[in-house]
Amino acid sequence: MSESEKVNVPWIDEPVELSEAVEMIAQADEDDEDAIQDLAARVDRLERRIATLEDGSSIECPSCDSEDAVYKAGVGAAILASLDALSDANADALNRDSHVCIDCRKSFTPAFD
Ligand SMILES: [Zn+2]
Repeated sequence: MSESEKVNVPWIDEPVELSEAVEMIAQADEDDEDAIQDLAARVDRLERRIATLEDGSSIECPSCDSEDAVYKAGVGAAILASLDALSDANADALNRDSHVCIDCRKSFTPAFD
C-alpha cells in the first residue's frame, strides 16, 4: 500500500490524512476563511498530483458528462468546502460515493467493469 496522502491544516501542528482535513474544513466556521483558502490551494496541488498518478483513468460524470471536474470524494469535498458549497446533504453523499463532479456538484460511484 502506498503512503497515505497527508496535508497540512494551518491550525493543526501535524500533517493530517486528507480525509481528516476534509472533515476539519467541513467543520470550520467562516472565521477560518483565510485558512480554508490556504488549504484549498494545497489541496489543489495535491489533486493535480493525484490526477497525474491516475492519468488514463479519467471518469465521466454521469449527470453532466464532464470529465474535467470529477474528483475523488475526499478531494472534491475539500474543493466544495473551499467554494463554500459543502452542505450537510452533499457531505453526507460524499461519504457514500467515491467521486464527485464539481461542475454539477453531484456525487456518484462509477461502475468499473
Ligand atoms: Zn457533473
